[in-house]
Parts: sequence; C-alpha cells; structure tokens
Amino acid sequence: MTKKKFANVYFIGAGPGDPELLTLKGKSIIARADVLIYAGSLVNPQVLNYKKKEATVYNSASMNLKEIVALISKEVKKGKTVARIHTGDPAIYGAIQEQISFLEKRNISYEVIPGVSSVFAAAAALKKELTVPERSQTVILTRISGRTKVPSRESIDKLAQSHATMAIFLSVAHIEKLVEQLLTGYPSNTPVAVVYKASWPDEKVVRGTLRTIADKVHKAAIKRQALILVGTALGDTGSELRSKLYHEGFAHGYRKKREGKEKTLAIVTLTKSGAQLGTALKKKIPAAHLFVPRKLGMKGVRIKPYTQPLHDLLGELVHNYSGLICIMATGIVVRTITPFLTHKSVDPAVVVLDEKGRFAISLVSGHLGGANELAEQVASLTGGKPVITTATDVHSMPAIDLLAKQLDCSSLNFKMLKGCNYALLHGEKVGIYPDTVKPYLPAEGKPKIRFYKTITRLRASDSAYKIIISNKQVTVDTTNKKAQGNIILLTPRNLVVGIGCNRSTSRAEIEDTVKKVLGSAQLSFLAIKKIATVSLKSNEKGLLAFARKHNFDIEFHTPQQLNKVVCPTPPSKNVLNAVGSKGVCEPAALLSAGVKTLLCTKKKTPNVTVAVAEIPIERFFKN
Ligand code: SAH
Repeated sequence: MTKKKFANVYFIGAGPGDPELLTLKGKSIIARADVLIYAGSLVNPQVLNYKKKEATVYNSASMNLKEIVALISKEVKKGKTVARIHTGDPAIYGAIQEQISFLEKRNISYEVIPGVSSVFAAAAALKKELTVPERSQTVILTRISGRTKVPSRESIDKLAQSHATMAIFLSVAHIEKLVEQLLTGYPSNTPVAVVYKASWPDEKVVRGTLRTIADKVHKAAIKRQALILVGTALGDTGSELRSKLYHEGFAHGYRKKREGKEKTLAIVTLTKSGAQLGTALKKKIPAAHLFVPRKLGMKGVRIKPYTQPLHDLLGELVHNYSGLICIMATGIVVRTITPFLTHKSVDPAVVVLDEKGRFAISLVSGHLGGANELAEQVASLTGGKPVITTATDVHSMPAIDLLAKQLDCSSLNFKMLKGCNYALLHGEKVGIYPDTVKPYLPAEGKPKIRFYKTITRLRASDSAYKIIISNKQVTVDTTNKKAQGNIILLTPRNLVVGIGCNRSTSRAEIEDTVKKVLGSAQLSFLAIKKIATVSLKSNEKGLLAFARKHNFDIEFHTPQQLNKVVCPTPPSKNVLNAVGSKGVCEPAALLSAGVKTLLCTKKKTPNVTVAVAEIPIERFFKN
C-alpha cells in the first residue's frame, strides 16, 4: 500500500456550529495544520481549540477572495499546511470553486473534507425526515436571488411547482419576498420551519405555515444565520398516523364535538417496565405525550409525570386527546375508563398494550375513533399483534362507516350506520347508490349488498338500509322513515367553491350566493370541503366568517398564481384593477381542487362571484 501524500491545503467542513459535529478527519487535520483560515461569522471558533499551539489563525470574514488566496499561496510556498475552514459543508454556498481553480492553476495540492451541512442540523433540530414517503422524496437546496443571482430557470417560483421539500439558505432576511414566491407553487397551509443557528446553544426554531411564517420570523427578530425548510414532509409527524386515524371528516356535529380536543396521542403508563416500553414507543411517535407516574422518578424532558390517581388522569385524557395507548392490564383500563365514555363518535381511540408489547388491543372506538388502525400501528411498532374485535372486521364485511370516513363524508343521519352494520351482520339486505364512488366500494357479494344505478331504484328496493353516496342534493325526510325506509345519506366533501367578493360583503350575502349557485347545479352544500379565493381577501371579514361558521378550509392564492390558470370565463378588467388578477373565483377553485375543469363556471351577483370545482374522488383513496 502506498502511503497517501498529504495535501498542502484542506477545505474543511466545520459543521453547523456544535463543535462535536466536526468530523474526526476535520479535527485531525486542524490538529496538524500550520495555518488555519476560518470563515469567522459562521464557524464556531471552538473548533480551533484542536489546533496545535504554534499554528497561526486567520479570520477570513474581513478578507476578499484575492486576499484569501494570496495568503494561502504565501503560506504554502513556505511549506506550511493550510486548513481553510468553512461552515457546514464546503460544497454548499462555500465559494470553494474559485479558491480551487486558483490552487489548480498554481499546482497546489488540496483536499476537501466534508462537513455536516446546516440543512441537516436544522432537520435534526426539528426531528424531521425530509423525505417522508407519499409526501416528498426530493430535497431542493436553494436560495433566493440576491447579490448572487440565481439562474431564472431555477427561481423559487419555478422550483415551488414541484412541492418537494425545500431547504433555503441565505434568505431569511427576505422572508416576505420568499414566501410570496413560494406561494406561487405551494398551498398556503404548507408547513414551514425556520431554524436559527441550528446546533448552537442559542438555536431558535420558529414553526408555521406559508401563511404565518413571515410574521413569526419578524416577531422572533431572526434576520440571518437561519435555514428555512418548507414542505409537507415537515408536517406534524403524529398527524400522518392521526390523519388516517382521526380524520375528522364525519358529520358536522361530530367534527364540532371533536374540535376542542388536542388532536394528539397520549401514552399512559403505570409501572417501570410499562414506562420503558412507553419511552420506546414515544421515540417512534414523537408527537405523542408520554404520561409516567412521578413516583417512578423517571427523568427526561419528554416525560409528563403525573401524581393524580389513574382514574382522574384518564378522565382528563379522554376529553383532551384523540387517542390513548394504555400500557397496563385491560381490566384496569376497562374499570377506570368506562364512566368517561360518551359515544363512539366523540370518544377517543383507546388501545391497551401489555407491558411486553405483545398485544395491542383495540378497546374503544375501533372504527370511527381509529382504534383499530391505532392498534395495528402500535403492534407494528412493538413487533406485537393487533387484537381487533369489531364485528364488521371479523366478518370481513365492508364497514360503511370506514368508507364514509375515508371519503370525508358529511351526513345528516350518520347514526343509522350502526344499525346498518348490524343489519349486514344479520344477513339483511343493504342497498347502495354509489354515484361516482362505485370503483372504490368493496365488491357486491357475500354480505347482502346491492348497488343501484339510480336513487329512484334504490328507494324502491326492499333493502333494510339504503345508502346514498353522492355530493348532489338529495332530499331525505329523516323524520319519515316509514315512507322512505332507512335512508342514509353520505355526502363526500369534495367540492371547492371559488369565491370573489367586493369589500365588506356580508357573510349572509356570500352564503346566500353560494347556496343559490350550488342549488342551481343540484350540488349539496354539505359537500363543500374548502373555499378558495385571492390572497387580497385574507382579511375579508364576511368571507372568513362564512368559512368559520361552516368549518370550511379556506385557501388564498396570489394574483400571480391565479393568472397562470386557464379559465372558461374571459378576464375581467374590473377584477384586474381591483385585485391584480384576471379572475378570482374560477382560477381559485381550479387551483385548490387541483383540476382543469369546473363543475360550475362563474355566477355573479352584484357583490359576489362563485365558481365550483370538484376534487376527484380517487384522490381520497390514494393513501
Ligand atoms: N456551507 C454551509 C452554508 C453556507 S451559506 C452549510 O452547508 O450549511 C450560509 C447560510 O447557511 C446561512 O445564511 C444560513 O442560511 C445557513 N446556515 C449556516 N449555518 C447555519 C446554522 N447553524 N443554522 C441555520 N442556518 C445556518
């Protein structure tokens, strides 16, 4: 083996700040270098502590490139080994290329030692994976165009179209401009985190969405040395689990009741070995809260010690959490929790786990609360078995309530589903009018389910329960069961209503117009998932009140985003003058639904314009 020749110059990545994040190789080169030139503003001077006594140190903060390379070449000529120390990894905005070409021209040998880039220190501070399956599998490292120009083909607004996870360097001073450009691609509720001085003792983390982040960054007075991370991968980790588990898209009434809950999981433990398993579980579900009896004396910032009797604790948790994982005997949980349970539509998912993690028992709210899925998740994390006893699963019959949940349905008479499942179990006939969702329903067959092509035929059938799944207006007289049989109306929430309005239009007027437009298209008001409009309306009181009253999501698009959308109705000069975009309701509805055609083109009253688009049903079945 030939001995490797030492180089004259080393470009060393010093890491993001914490000196322990310096690589061993970087450290040993610092230890033998004669001259150290470090980028003063960002490199932690503590990494220089490893240098030999007689080494000379230069801070490059006040030098220009010419001066730096002149210094390097002077020292190399004297036979010295030079360590050029960069922040993070030298390959990212390290400006090493210019130094390298200078060295090559002069035949000076050099090596590059990688370092931990601040992007990874920031991800670590957030405890996030940047490449979460089904969210994003791509990370873009970029910056906003400033004194150093970014080629226009890779401008933020172009990159934003990809919806990939984005790590943005050198840009926090321009947060507003940055957000504006990001919003041309990402939806306004996309999670954003700004990490100031990742891995330093004075590290600060600010989290928000594209809508809120600029304000928060100003309030935190962050002006430099911060990395901005954007993308759905940064969303609540537990929420991946939860969004499937506790998807709140059921009847409006239920959604309201669940609203007050912290939509979080609680892991409740009673004994030392339970607490150990709880700790392991919490590592895998970081968003969960871990409750451990104080008397066990377990320490850790992530533990919530409790002193009250278990009965009192569970009483509180049932009301405030959407899922409980109780690591203890089933009997204890059953006896303790029963008095606090109300109804399957509001009770949290309760899973009992034995202290060895062998069995995860779905105890309460198997379907609606998501306990069956939670039990499966927990079992897969502990290597145990899920124990599921809800009837429809045991008989592998299609649980219509799960389907309704997946479709984010509203329902007027959802309580009847329980009876319907019961009827199925007892071999009674159930008929379904599936409108557009037929391909996603379990096949007809063993259970006595029949599909009907029209609502009239379904109504006329002898089914014990008649389920209509449709976002159209259907009249069901819930008081008159005898006349129509047990009709269950499930309305998938998949409509997006684009709305434009004059300043100070009242909530009532907006609502009235939306109802009229939907009515004329035979579409159900209950099917509205979100409303969409132009960014200028983000403080439009009537519009916000309308969204709030009905619990609709609301999305705002910038005029630039809206102008890119091809719409059926020709551009309006008035709108262009007022809000800077060629149209509002049509492009906003199309953008928010992610489609190219409208269900209803623009309808206008003196103060309000409305257009409607439909989110394709298949999107609900993607996960
Ligand atoms: N080569 C470095 C980046 C140098 S450019 C790396 O790989 O991290 C300087 C920019 O990096 C800063 O403006 C900031 O956006 C980011 N940065 C560097 N260190 C940081 C830290 N500790 N925390 C957050 N951002 C940091």
